[in-house]
Amino acid sequence: MSKIRIFALAKDLNVDSKRMLEILHDMGVEAKTASSSIDEETAELVKALIAEENKPAAPVAAVAPEPQPEPEPVVQKEIPHRPPVVTIMGHVDHGKTSLLDYIRKTKVAEKEAGGITQHVGAFEAITSGGKVVFIDTPGHEAFTSIRARGASVADVAVIVIAASESLMPQTREAIAHAKAAKVPIIVAINKIDLPNANVDKVMTDLMQVELVPEAFGGETITVPISARTGEGVDKLLENILLLAELEDLRADPEGEFKGVIIEAKVDKQAGVLATVLVQNGTLEVSDFVVVDELYGKVRAMTDGFGERVSSATPGTAVQILGFSETPVAGELVARSKNEHLAREIIETTKQKRLDAASAKAAAKRLQSQSAAMSLEQLLGKPGEIPVEKRVVTLVVRADTQGSLEALNGILARENKEDVEVNILLAGIGAPTEGDVLLASTAEGAKIMCFSVTASGGVKKMADLKKVEIKTYRIIYELIEDVQKMIRGTIEPTYEERLIGKAEVRMIIKVPKAGGNIAGSYVLEGKLMRNGKARVIRAKKEIWKGTIAGLKRFKDDVREVMHGFECGINLNGFDEFEPGDIIEVSEVVEISA
Ligand code: GDP
Repeated sequence: MSKIRIFALAKDLNVDSKRMLEILHDMGVEAKTASSSIDEETAELVKALIAEENKPAAPVAAVAPEPQPEPEPVVQKEIPHRPPVVTIMGHVDHGKTSLLDYIRKTKVAEKEAGGITQHVGAFEAITSGGKVVFIDTPGHEAFTSIRARGASVADVAVIVIAASESLMPQTREAIAHAKAAKVPIIVAINKIDLPNANVDKVMTDLMQVELVPEAFGGETITVPISARTGEGVDKLLENILLLAELEDLRADPEGEFKGVIIEAKVDKQAGVLATVLVQNGTLEVSDFVVVDELYGKVRAMTDGFGERVSSATPGTAVQILGFSETPVAGELVARSKNEHLAREIIETTKQKRLDAASAKAAAKRLQSQSAAMSLEQLLGKPGEIPVEKRVVTLVVRADTQGSLEALNGILARENKEDVEVNILLAGIGAPTEGDVLLASTAEGAKIMCFSVTASGGVKKMADLKKVEIKTYRIIYELIEDVQKMIRGTIEPTYEERLIGKAEVRMIIKVPKAGGNIAGSYVLEGKLMRNGKARVIRAKKEIWKGTIAGLKRFKDDVREVMHGFECGINLNGFDEFEPGDIIEVSEVVEISA
C-alpha cells in the first residue's frame, strides 16, 4: 500500500499540519512529526473527517436570533510569514559550494542587467513555492559559530553527501552539529550524475547516524541531486519549503528588532563591513546597532547585489558599514534609535555578565558551605526534595573504532533516571576546532580524549572558548572522571586572575561623561573592558569595581595591550591621582 506524508496531505486538504497531527492523535494514530507518513486508508479517513468538520452548520431559522451587542472590534495583527533560513553542511568536496552556486545562478532574481550578485554571506532564492534564504558560508564550523550564542540561525540544515563516497567524518560531524542545534535535517545525495554514484549505499549508511530515510520507513527526507546538472535541485527546494512550513515561521517587520551577525571583515578602504541577517523588525540607515559590548551607527547598507538600501526587513541579509571594531559571527544584534540608548544596552549586557559570574561564584561558595546541610535545610522548607536531572555533556574522541565503541558502551550505562550523559559527538582521531565550537555551545561541555591529543591550534581555540579538553591513556580513568562529573564533585571553581596593570599619568576632565577619565599607560599585560578594576594608591587598595569604558584616542575599545596609552573610565570612581595603579582582573573558571 502506498504511503503519504502528513504535511503533503495537510497541504492538499488546506489544513494546518499541527491540526492534522491533532486529528491523527484523536484517531489513535501516533505520528511524531508532520514529515511522518501514513497509509492511504488512514488518509481517506482523515479526508472524510475533515469534510465532516467543514460542513456548514444547519441553519436554525425558526428562532429569531437575540440581538447581540456589537462586539468590540479586536485589532489583532496577523504576523506575516517569513522565508526559511537554510544552511548547507557536509564533508569537503561533496558539493556544498557547487549546490549554492547552482541555486544562486538559477534562482536569484536578476535585479539589474547581468544580475551580478556579491557575496554578503546570505542570499535569497526565489522558487515557485516561495522564498528561501541561504547562508552561503558552507561548512559546519561557520554554522556552529553562527549558533554559538544560543539558538540556531538556520531553520533547516541541508546535509550534502556525495553519492560516490557516502558518509565521511565531516558528514558525521555536520549531522551531530545540526542535531545538537535541533535544526531539522534534509539530506541531499549529490553527484548522482557520476557513474559510480550509489544512492542506496548512502541511504543505508544514514541509518548508522540514526537518520532513517523515508524509503525505509523513517522520517528523514533524502533527495538525490546533481549540483552539476541541476537534476533534483527543484525537488530539494520544494522539500525545504515543505519542512519549513511545519515550523510556521513568522516575523514582524514592525516588531522589536532582532538580527544576527553572519560574517564580518575589515575592508582596507571602507572599514569594518558586517553582514546582518534581519530576523525581526526593520533596520534603517542611521540606526544604532549594538553587538555585545560594541556599537556603531549604520552609515550605509548594501544588499546582495551591491546596491545601497535604506532599510532591511526580516529574511534579508545586508552588509552594513558603521562598526569601529569587527563583531563576531553568531553574535546577536540589537538596535536603538539613539546613541544614548545604545550605550545603555551595553551597560545592561555588562552588568548581566558580571551578575552571572558572581552568581556562579556565590552558588559555588554556598555549595561548599552547605555540603553538610541537607537540601531541605538549605531550601528552608520541609517537603519534597526536587530531583533535578543531572546532565553531563561531552564530546568523545578516541584513537580507534574499537576503543570508541567501548567508551560509548560504558558511558551509555551511566544514563539513569536522574542522570543523562549527553554525547554531542563521538569520533575517531584528535579533537578538532569544530569539536571545540560544538562543545562551547553547550553549558559546561567537556572534550574527553582517549589516546589522542589536541593540537596547539585546537588547545588555543579551547582556551579562547573556555572549553576543557581532558586527555586519558586509561579508559577507566576517563570513566571515573565522568562519574565524578555526574556526582558533581568536579564542579568548577572561580578565581579572579590579574590580567593587566596601568599607571595613571594624567587626569582628563570630561563633565559630559559624568566625571574624570584616567589617562593611563599599560605597564603589564592588557586591560579588558569587561574586567574588574582595583585602584591602588601607595600600595593600598582604595577602590574596587568595574570598568565603564576604555578609550584609545576617541574610539571605544575592548582591550588595550601593554605599552599603549589609553583612557580609563570607572563605574563609580573618578578621583584619580597621577601615580595611581589600576589593576584589571577577570573571573575565570578553574577545574577542581
Ligand atoms: P565543497 O567542498 O563541498 O564545497 O565541494 P565543491 O562544491 O567545491 O565540489 C567539489 C568538487 O565536486 C568540484 O570539483 C565540483 O565540480 C564537483 N561536484 C560538485 N557537485 C557535483 C555533481 O553533482 N556532479 C559532479 N560530477 N561533480 C560535482
